[in-house]
This record gives sequence, structure tokens and C-alpha cells, in this order.
Amino acid sequence: MSGQVLDRRAFLGAATTAAAAAIAAPGGADAATGRSSGVDVVIVGAGVFGTWTAWKLRQAGAKVLLVDAWGPAHARGTSGGETRLIRTEYRGDPLYTRWAWESLADWKALSARHEMPLFHATGALYLYPHVDELIGRSAALHAQMGIPMERITPAELARRWPQIDTSGIAVGLLQPTMGPLMARRSVQVLRDDFVAAGGTYRQMAVAPPVVKGGRLEAITSIRGETVAADKFVFACGPWLPKLFPEVVGARIVPVHKDVFFFAPEAGDARFAPPNLPAWVDVSSPDLHYGFPDIEARGFKIALDRNGAVIDPDQGDRTVSPEAIAQVRAYLRRRFPDLADRQLVEQRVCQYENTHDGNFLIDRHPEADNLWIAGGGSGHGFKHGPAIGTYITALIDGAPPESRFLLASHREHDGRA
Ligand SMILES: Cc1cc2nc3c(=O)[nH]c(=O)nc-3n(C[C@H](O)[C@H](O)[C@H](O)COP(=O)(O)OP(=O)(O)OC[C@H]3O[C@@H](n4cnc5c(N)ncnc54)[C@H](O)[C@@H]3O)c2cc1C
Repeated sequence: MSGQVLDRRAFLGAATTAAAAAIAAPGGADAATGRSSGVDVVIVGAGVFGTWTAWKLRQAGAKVLLVDAWGPAHARGTSGGETRLIRTEYRGDPLYTRWAWESLADWKALSARHEMPLFHATGALYLYPHVDELIGRSAALHAQMGIPMERITPAELARRWPQIDTSGIAVGLLQPTMGPLMARRSVQVLRDDFVAAGGTYRQMAVAPPVVKGGRLEAITSIRGETVAADKFVFACGPWLPKLFPEVVGARIVPVHKDVFFFAPEAGDARFAPPNLPAWVDVSSPDLHYGFPDIEARGFKIALDRNGAVIDPDQGDRTVSPEAIAQVRAYLRRRFPDLADRQLVEQRVCQYENTHDGNFLIDRHPEADNLWIAGGGSGHGFKHGPAIGTYITALIDGAPPESRFLLASHREHDGRA
């Protein structure tokens, strides 16, 4: 879908009758005054989903207002971490493989527009304990799509990365052109690019929307200000269940995730690029993954296993001593020279999980002009550009992917 740019006329030529009626006078009319707000689309939420959607809609010619309660990629937003991995290894899933691949071009373009690199092509290395059918399927898909991927034998793993103890690993898959994105910074500069391209950004905390007569006329801030528009996208990450308790509810459950940074020994460059790629240890029951020492922040390690359910506003964001001991035990096994190194930073973030890890992107069942987008489920960051393109097309009348629909998502308890 990347590269599909709709011009403003095409964008405004929306398919639905209700939307077409609203579009006849571009820019929603203010509910109280009847005056035009001059806004075609309001995006609520300046995380990676909302900011890329704002950018793509603006590129398509729409007048877009992007708002966020705390600011783009803020400390508690799921997009607010230091780094996120972009990789196309999706166990042979064609849609996510393609979206990640197409998104990489947009990420590289964003990175090229800015002085400090936003994408580091360190490579991404997968460590598998068994050779299974899905590895073959994924390798075949990558070959078919022309995406570089190398199979690496255990002997070759040990030779190339002696700082990793690869015992128990049957095969490595290396994606040499993938690597970390600077997460927080890339969302913030994308917001700046969006504003420079004529979009509007404002800090505003939006109250749960009130839908009447099959439409949403305006958003209202918690201070009572209203902004009307033709269309609305709520891309509110782990806050979506609070904003839409009936429609989203427990279809998205935020869960606790610990992230650690360790300082390598002075002068030891083995844990920095180009000596170490980003890596994912599929053999670990907790699915540990990590990043080399990027921008001298330290060696980052985290685990993909679901923690306890967390409230994004009130949840405890301290890391437990047990969690630190567990991550050191893992390091002792796989990265023994880091096991006793100083822990220089610890963070608690959240995954906003759906029951099966598929994103939730759909029209509100009671409002023709309101879309909900979230459920990143620990892998959404890389797809930001593709999600923006998808939502731009979706609200212009393109058919949806069934896996993202509300009807495809069930409520769960966070352990799913
Ligand atoms: C530790 C960790 C590691 C991860 N690693 C990866 C990775 O390696 N690769 C990858 O692809 N993905 C990864 N992810 C997942 C990825 O970060 C998320 O899928 C993605 O950031 C979700 O973005 P979002 O825009 O949906 O949500 P958010 O970034 O949370 O943005 C939602 C925004 O909505 C705003 N908002 C909420 N309510 C309101 C309101 N009422 N009014 C106004 N604004 C509001 C919030 O302030 C927030 O800024 C990881 C996630 C975590 C936590």
C-alpha cells in the first residue's frame, strides 16, 4: 500500500452517503456555532498510529488536526520508548511481512529528512531452537518478495557473534537490512514534518465521544472545548478501552512490560553496531529480545512474555527486583559478559494486546464517520506508515482487512 497517494479530490470523494454529505462543505461545522472548523479529519492520539495517519492524510490533501493529551510519543504512550525493531520476519504471514517491508521505505525517507538517523540498519537476528516448517515458509516468502534473509548455521553463529552463547540454537535467520528505529524521536519529528506540511497539532485531552444520529459531529476536550470535523480517527493506544468501554472494552488489554539497559565494560565495542545486530531469542520461554548499544544508551533487553494487566494512567511503573534478577539470569546464559554489568536504565511500558495479536482498526459500529485504530500488541510500531496508508484508504471507502475488524476481536483477560 505504500506509495498509494490519493489526491484531495479523490480523498474527498468518499464512498459512504453520510460521509459524502458531510464532505459537500469541507471542514466540519462547529456543533455550537455552526461555523466551519476548516478541519476534514481530526486524529486523536499522536502515537505512531495517529501521527503516521495524520501525515498520510495530509499528503492526500486533507486538512488534518492531530491532538494528543500529553504530546507525541510521551513517556507513558506505547510509542514513547527509545527504540523499536523493524523486521519483516513474521513466520510467513504475507500481510505483516508486506506492511513492514513497505513501511521501511517510509521510515528511511523520514530518517533521510532529519539530521540524526532514525533508522539503524544493524541487521536483525532470529535465534531458533528448532528448524520448523514456518521458517521455510518465511524464507520462501522473503525470497519471493526480494527481501534479504540469510539462514545461519550454529557454527557460523558462534564464529560471527562470539559474544553470544548460542548453545541450544538450531538455526539463525539474519535480516541484514533491518534494525532499530529511534521510536520516540521519530514520532516527534514526524509530527514536526506534518505541521511543516500544513497540518495542525494541538495538545488536547479529548473526552469520550458522544455519537448521535449515526455520526460524530465534534470532539469535546475535558475542558469543554469542541472541534467539529467531517471525520474522526481515535488512535489512542492503551487508552482506547477507556474511551470506548462498550465498543472496545476488553478487546484491548494493556499489559506490563519491563525494559532494561545495561552498560558494557569500558572500551568494549562488542555490544554496539556493527558488531552486534538487534536479536530475538525464540528459544527463550520469555522470548527475550534486544538491541545493540545505540547512541551510547546501553545494551537494551526486554521480554515479550505478557506481564500483569496495567492501567496506563494509574499503573505502577517500577521494575521489581525479581524481574531484574530474572533478566540477569538470562544474560548469564546468552550474553555472559553482560550478566554482572551495571543496569543503567529500567522502564515499564505496556503492550495494548488484542486476543490474537492482530491490530484493531475499524469503523465505529454506530458512527459512519468515526474510526478506531489500535491494538498494536507489541509489534505495531514498525507498521506505522502502512497503517497510515491503510486508514487513509479505508476512510476513503476502500474495503477493510477482515482480521482488523471489531467482529474479528474477542474480549480477553490479558493472558491471551
Ligand atoms: C516495550 C515495548 C517494546 C516494543 N517493541 C516493538 C518493536 O520492537 N517493534 C514494533 O513494531 N513494535 C513494538 N512495540 C509495539 C509498539 O510500540 C506499539 O504497537 C505502538 O507504539 C502503538 O502505538 P499507538 O499509536 O497505537 O499507541 P500510543 O503510542 O500509546 O499512542 C496513543 C496516544 O493517544 C493519546 N491519547 C489517549 N487518550 C487520549 C485522549 N483522551 N485525548 C487525547 N489523546 C489521547 C495518548 O496520549 C498517546 O500519545 C513495543 C511496545 C513496547 C511497550
